[in-house]
Amino acid sequence: MPGDGIGPEVVAAGRRVLERVAQSYGHRFVCNEHLIGGAAIEAHGDPLPPDTIASCQESDAVLLGAVGGPRWSDPNASTRPEQGLLRLRKVLGVFANLRPVKVLAELVDASPLKSSILSGVDLVVVRELTGGIYFGEKSRDETSASDVCTYHTHEIERIVRVAALLATQRRGKLCSVDKANVLETSRLWRDVTNRLVASEFPEIDLETLLVDAAAMHLLSRPAEFDVIVTENMFGDILTDEASMLTGSLGMLPSASLGDTQRGLYEPIHGSAPDIAGKGIANPCGTIASVAMLLRHSLALEEEASSVEAAMTKVISDGGRTADIATGNNKVLTTDEFTELLIQQLP
Ligand code: NAD
Repeated sequence: MPGDGIGPEVVAAGRRVLERVAQSYGHRFVCNEHLIGGAAIEAHGDPLPPDTIASCQESDAVLLGAVGGPRWSDPNASTRPEQGLLRLRKVLGVFANLRPVKVLAELVDASPLKSSILSGVDLVVVRELTGGIYFGEKSRDETSASDVCTYHTHEIERIVRVAALLATQRRGKLCSVDKANVLETSRLWRDVTNRLVASEFPEIDLETLLVDAAAMHLLSRPAEFDVIVTENMFGDILTDEASMLTGSLGMLPSASLGDTQRGLYEPIHGSAPDIAGKGIANPCGTIASVAMLLRHSLALEEEASSVEAAMTKVISDGGRTADIATGNNKVLTTDEFTELLIQQLP
């Protein structure tokens, strides 16, 4: 689902990579394209039309660009593009949003942070995706407004389990981020996390941070983090911050997973209306999401690794889109970058 703004540009790049993987490895992927977000509002008056939902439910995996843009940004509009995305996550039951943040040595100069801080950064943020304040009851009258934040024990348990399991497959460190000094939902989050990790994952090194401190530690000692688990809104904000460790919001992929193999894969960035239609968007976040799709939903590990290796090779050879270009790099368009990457695939 390309969506809006640069969504169609980066999803086209992702599909070209998938097609090449199919050719190289002898697979046949059946891809159906559907509308979501502003594009779907224009065509059907609904940001998530029924045929989009049906197709997603029948598919092994869903690849999404981004939704939204100034055309649909009236805060008082009853139908907004983001509603389509939130509903889709709920409908697919994808409660665990995995956002890997790995700093490539070649891109250290593209980040505004000092290279000494960035060396060795390799972390994954596991963000709870279908609960919390984004899904709570909303109300508004002339002089007040409220958004309710609710978490149930089972929602916290299942996301912490995903994160703790991931930590056991990595460096064995888990950091849970909350705001337990102020929020009741965070106090429940902390109690459940402490209990679950102690009983089911005693070998894990568990750290707990308040979200304000976590925002600071992500910039002062990012290489010390392994897996970070947190609620929906904190994860949303912290991963945009963490993206700057890699040099650009355009670099980061994500996988949203539930209880089955099916997943929703999307770059973490938005529709970037400021650069839409110019052909200069960085496709790395989407292409890395395609690699996650191959790995998690289709169990094609070799293919996934080859896509990641091809991306790293293009970047090490100096190929950069404008957002990550420094010094003498030749600045590539979205299509030129994708073409070079495809040439690196078997
Ligand atoms: P954004 O992520 O779209 O853009 C922020 C900045 O990063 C912009 O300067 C943009 O040019 C740059 N950027 C983002 N992706 C890039 C890429 N691939 N290559 C190069 N540069 C890139 O955030 P925003 O401007 O706050 O939001 C724009 C619209 O996107 C809004 O309507 C917002 O609601 C929507 N949005 C959608 C999603 C989603 O679909 N998941 C996520 C965030 C924001």
